[in-house]
Amino acid sequence: MKKKEYPETVLLAAYEYIRRQKREVHPAGKFDRGGRWYPSEAEEQPCCSSIRNPSRAWPYSLMTHCRTLPHVAALYGADPKEVRRAVKDGAWEVLRAQEVLKK
Ligand SMILES: [Zn+2]
Repeated sequence: MKKKEYPETVLLAAYEYIRRQKREVHPAGKFDRGGRWYPSEAEEQPCCSSIRNPSRAWPYSLMTHCRTLPHVAALYGADPKEVRRAVKDGAWEVLRAQEVLKK
């Protein structure tokens, strides 16, 4: 069966999502003095406004959100449904292969 072709933004979003889930890469942002994490301006997307602000009890509420698929899809301007499909397909593996070859 022929693999579905995805736009590059979808593949990049899928790969970024996988790496964020594996904690290989981290969302851009920083901690305040209270140890609460906030996304950088470039990282922040409209979806983030519905997430509860970090508190001392929940310092990583936004960091956790920034590792989710809808957020990463928004970051890349990709359709989350397509990104989810690309993740399931393993379509992002081609990007990992390219990265390994570059090393
Ligand atoms: Zn978000």
